Amino acid sequence: MTTTRFAPSPTGYIHIGNLRTALFNYLIARKAGGQFILRLDDTDPERSKQEYADAIMEDLEWLGLTWDRVEKQSERLARYEAAADELRASGRLYECFETPVELDLKRKKQLNMGKPPVYDRSGLNLSDAEREALRSERGNGHWRFRLDLERIEWHDGILGDLSIDAASVSDPVLIRGDGQFLYTPASVCDDIDFGITHVVRGSDHVTNTATQIQIIKALGGTVPEFAHHSLLTGPQGEALSKRLGTLSLRDLRAQGLEPMAILSHMARLGSSDPIELRTGMDELIEGFDLSKFGSAPTKFDVEDLRPLTAKYIGTLPYETMAAQLAEIGVPADIAPAFWEAVRGNLETRADIADWWALCRDGAEPLIEPEDAEFVTTAKALLPATPWDTTTWGVWTKAVKAETGRKGKGLFMPLRKALTGMQHGPDMSRLMPLLAKVNL
Ligand code: GLU
Repeated sequence: MTTTRFAPSPTGYIHIGNLRTALFNYLIARKAGGQFILRLDDTDPERSKQEYADAIMEDLEWLGLTWDRVEKQSERLARYEAAADELRASGRLYECFETPVELDLKRKKQLNMGKPPVYDRSGLNLSDAEREALRSERGNGHWRFRLDLERIEWHDGILGDLSIDAASVSDPVLIRGDGQFLYTPASVCDDIDFGITHVVRGSDHVTNTATQIQIIKALGGTVPEFAHHSLLTGPQGEALSKRLGTLSLRDLRAQGLEPMAILSHMARLGSSDPIELRTGMDELIEGFDLSKFGSAPTKFDVEDLRPLTAKYIGTLPYETMAAQLAEIGVPADIAPAFWEAVRGNLETRADIADWWALCRDGAEPLIEPEDAEFVTTAKALLPATPWDTTTWGVWTKAVKAETGRKGKGLFMPLRKALTGMQHGPDMSRLMPLLAKVNL
């Protein structure tokens, strides 16, 4: 069964870049009728916070990316311990005692000599006596996985055939000196145990994938299909990393952006398919094809989400909006007509309340000096209430006959006088809803 996972660390809020990873994995699982697992990579007890785990789940729920089960790495430490023992027994895990400063120095020396900064495996060559001495002097060491020095090859679902020379990569640290398991061993054990068939993640993980393939094999697991999507940049191609803090899903939600607008955009951005608004998740799942995504960095502009949001809100039927309209005080008898009038003129849902305030309280008329006389004439011709959808036509016809104005010169000053704005809903639909006119 196709099984994918989204594996955020609960050390912060998820942002648009994480969402891309989550969405791709979600769509693959759903398209195949498989499983989508939410995995919380929380082996770091200091940085992982329950409030972030809760926030991640809340954000995914808001988007409608439902998961089949949640797994927490912090609850699987015994399994990682067993895997480490297995690797020790097969000679693939070795203890090292360098301090971060020493490692840094080694790297600098290598770079100075024009060599790649690959760990020199000093730890591997220690005698038992040397190891004991170091341990008593420095405490427990950290543990590295001994890579087989061969080319590691895989067919990447986005990048195509890849090959990385293991000799160009440092033996990865799996366990810190204080015993904390790092992301790599935990992720590998989980991918094996949960039967993960497809791993899609950012291209910053390509080297991790190479080493993880060897660790998976060393533990007797089945290597999943890997795919690495490009990283997002800002609209001008600039690095997005610094701005991701303002592109959290919470921020987007606070700005009134709609889940379906975000999902429609992100499920196709960077692919050869056009970006179009989809109103249902099924459509997104149906048309998703990982092989249509390219390796080039993908430009993301939050502004692109705004027209999609407006368009999405415009598609919503009254039945979907009834509760929200009632909440802002639109009486049920006029709510359907009100929704029909305003739905095409909303940037976000927050605008609904503004239009309702306009209907309820009237607007401050906007009258240009050159239109003052015209508006006074028009006011005298206003039909008696109650108004209906024919009122605007009747009124403007009368004003036209009286003043000789037509087209924009006729309609625009009247719209501005009644609504205080240049743009807005169809006046025939709006006029019957105006409970108050401050002319
Ligand atoms: N917690 C890791 C990250 O957020 C997961 C990477 C992976 O998908 O394996 O980068």
